[in-house]
Amino acid sequence: MTGRRGEPATAGVGPGAPGSPAGQVGPPAQAGPGTQASGDRVVSPLADADDRLVEGALRPKRLDDFVGQARVREQLSLVLEGALRRGRAPDHVLLSGPPGLGKTTMAMIIAAEMGTPLRITSGPAIERAGDLASVLSTLSEGEVMFIDEIHRVARPAEEMLYLAMEDFRVDVVIGKGPGATAIPLDIAPFTLVGATTRAGLLPAPLRDRFGFTAYLDFYEPAELGVIVRRSAGLLGVALRDDGADEIAGRSRGTPRIANRLLRRVRDFAEVRADGVVTRDVACSALEVYDVDELGLDRLDRAVLGALVRSFGGGPVGVSTLAVAVGEEASTVEEVCEPYLVRAGMLARTPRGRVATAAAWRHLGLRPPERAVNDGSPMLFD
Ligand code: ADP
Repeated sequence: MTGRRGEPATAGVGPGAPGSPAGQVGPPAQAGPGTQASGDRVVSPLADADDRLVEGALRPKRLDDFVGQARVREQLSLVLEGALRRGRAPDHVLLSGPPGLGKTTMAMIIAAEMGTPLRITSGPAIERAGDLASVLSTLSEGEVMFIDEIHRVARPAEEMLYLAMEDFRVDVVIGKGPGATAIPLDIAPFTLVGATTRAGLLPAPLRDRFGFTAYLDFYEPAELGVIVRRSAGLLGVALRDDGADEIAGRSRGTPRIANRLLRRVRDFAEVRADGVVTRDVACSALEVYDVDELGLDRLDRAVLGALVRSFGGGPVGVSTLAVAVGEEASTVEEVCEPYLVRAGMLARTPRGRVATAAAWRHLGLRPPERAVNDGSPMLFD
């Protein structure tokens, strides 16, 4: 069975298998059409080929090594511990949140903690119900099945998933038209771990079948500092504390970006300095990569610049804004905006996008009297 572009729809990973490059299975996650350029950004939260090569080695393998997301970790540990005590597969788990925050890592940890194998696939790789049926029918008891981008599973497969999740059964349809017959097939009790960046796109019947739902939020700089130090240890990078803090502060709340910036800074440290990553080295390196002290890159600054200079700070519609910076609206909306909103630079309001006073100041301009002070859309409701 193959997924789109002839790639396998799934890959098996033994429990706690080191260095499993999850991102290499099925088509890579994409924010949508026209995001190629944004996918190449050093501050993109999406994994590139280079990330996929090293991420396996950097992923924490157990729940205790997973930095941050304390609430989710605690809840999940209870779910897993309860299941272990009962000797049953844990409830299906839905993980939502922006890319690069640890959803795949968490799925691998669930399998490792349960001591079961992990099967990895992604929504776009499941185009037909048959693709899904052949994965489901070969699951072993207690196996964890991870579906990344679950909101992109094709409709007929999604309906098959309902029955599989609820009754551990699939109906295999033989033949076509009026003569078609559905043959029920029992499958082994398994745990589905679904990941999505767009929980709102999941149909309610699918969402309701998850017994445990967690939202992964952006990380605090201090947490990213811990992640960067841990990664530096694993990669053998000489990293000073002030260097770690500088990288963490520019990583947009996202571990994947933190790890990528660490690698770029290490290159700079080795080529242009003595190999040790200090604050000064990190600052000089990230200047070369156009990542400013808040973690904004050229595209983010272009969006803010257009908003402020061409549209007087807004409100302006996202498609108009996207045209002004020569990008797809989906890129501006899904790649730039989440962090600009979080950084308090941009507000999404019912009348359009608005630059906050902080955005004017970040661009070295004096905010007008009427500029919003933070990302609060209430002012425009
Ligand atoms: P997602 O599936 O949400 O896109 P991943 O699980 O692939 O994100 O995580 C991306 C990278 O970030 C991984 O290489 C992993 O090492 C790192 N990472 C994510 N979350 C954490 C965390 N809480 N602690 C340490 N590293 C993390």
